[in-house]
Amino acid sequence: MTYLVKGARVLGGEPKDILVKDGVIAEIGAPGRVDGTGAGHVDADGLVALPGLVDLHTHLREPGREDAETVASGTAAAALGGFTAVHAMANTSPVADTAGVVEQVWRLGRQAGHCDVQPVGAVTAGLLGRQLAELGAMADSAARVRVFSDDGVCVSDAVLMRRALEYVKAFDGVVAQHAQEPRLTEGAQMNEGAVSGRLGLTGWPAVAEEAIIARDCLLAAHVGSRLHICHVSTAGSVEIIRWAKSKGWDVTAEVTPHHLLLTDACAETSPAGAYNPIYKVNPPLRTGEDVRALREALADGTIDCVATDHAPHPVEDKETEWQAAAMGMIGLETALSVVQEAMVETGLLDWAGVADRMSARPARIGRLPGHGRELRAGSPANLVLADPSVRWAVDPGGFASKSRNTPYQGMTLPGRVVATFLRGRPTVLEGKLT
Ligand SMILES: [Zn+2]
Repeated sequence: MTYLVKGARVLGGEPKDILVKDGVIAEIGAPGRVDGTGAGHVDADGLVALPGLVDLHTHLREPGREDAETVASGTAAAALGGFTAVHAMANTSPVADTAGVVEQVWRLGRQAGHCDVQPVGAVTAGLLGRQLAELGAMADSAARVRVFSDDGVCVSDAVLMRRALEYVKAFDGVVAQHAQEPRLTEGAQMNEGAVSGRLGLTGWPAVAEEAIIARDCLLAAHVGSRLHICHVSTAGSVEIIRWAKSKGWDVTAEVTPHHLLLTDACAETSPAGAYNPIYKVNPPLRTGEDVRALREALADGTIDCVATDHAPHPVEDKETEWQAAAMGMIGLETALSVVQEAMVETGLLDWAGVADRMSARPARIGRLPGHGRELRAGSPANLVLADPSVRWAVDPGGFASKSRNTPYQGMTLPGRVVATFLRGRPTVLEGKLT
C-alpha cells in the first residue's frame, strides 16, 4: 500500500508532499516534487500533519464491561481521534494483573487493528492494594508491559508503592499513580470548594491529590525509579511536580483534555441545569485558577503530556442522580479538538508543541519506540491529518465509542481528524473508519 499525501502542513509548517510506502515515510518534499506514481493520492490541502497520537490513559473496559466499551469499539474511537497507540488501563474484570489478561487485551487490539493497544498492568493483585501483582511476568509477556497502574484507585500504602517502584526498575518500567489519598476523599463527589458547598455535595480536596504526589515524588527519588502521575488536576500538584523536576528526579505527568477546559462551575451552571452527572469525574473538575495553572504547566513542559482518561460508561450508570452516577467521561474522539481549543487557539502551544505533548512524550514515557517519532523519511508511517479550520458541533450519536458520556455534547469545538495512518495503512480516511 502506497499513498501520496499531498500538501500537508507538517507540524503546521509549509505544505509538503509525504510518500507513505511499505509502512514507513519514504519521502517528504516540496509539493509536486515527490514521485507518487502508482500511489493512492490523499488530498491534504490545508491539513496539519502530526505524528500519530499516543494515549497513556484509556479505559477500554474489555474484559468485563463490554456493554460500555470493547477493545474494538474503543480503538475505533481512538483511530477517529487521531491515535495510533493507546494504553489500556488495568481496571477491567478480571483485572489485568497477570500475563494471561494483558496478553488477551493485547491480542484483541491486534485483531481489531485500529491502533496499537499497549496494556497497562495492575500494580497490586486485584487492585486491592495488599500485594504486588505479577509485574515481572507481565513485563516478560507478549504484551511487554512497561506501565503499571492501579488507576481508579490509588496505591495508597507507602510500602507497596516503594516496592513497586523498586521492582519496575529491573525492566525500565514506570508506575503510573492515580493520586488520591483515600481517607481524605471518602464519599467525595466533586471538587471541595465554594461550588460543592453551595450544592451540598461532599468535597474532594486538592490536598488529597497533592499529598500523594509529594509523597510519591520523594519515594521515586529515594528509590531512583520512574514515576508517572496520572491526570494532574490542581495548581498545587503542578508546583510539586515542578519542584521534583527541578531536582532532576525522573517524574512525569499527564493532564486530561477536560481538566484543561472545564471547571467545577459546570456542576452548577451548565445549560442542562445543576447536578448534571455528565460532569462527574475523578479527579474532579477543579477551579478556573487550576485550569490556568494546568495549561501553563503543559505549555512549559512541567506536565509532559495530554492523556484522555477515556472512561466509557453505559447510559444507566451516568443518567441518574449525581451521587449515584459513575465517575468518568469519554474523550478519545474529542481530545485533539479540546487541546486545539484550550492550548492552540490560546497561543500556548503551536502544532509542534501539540505533537510533542500528544505523541512524542507519551510514546517515550510508555516506551513505545515505534510511535511518537519525528515525521521524516525512514520513520514508521504513524501519522494523523487534521483540519484545524473547521468547527463542529459535538454529537455523541456519531461516535464510534459504545458510550455517550461526553461533557461536550452540544458544544462547538475546533478541528477535526481527517485521516489516520497506522504503519502506512489508513485506519481513517475522509473522517471515517476504513
Ligand atoms: Zn484515575
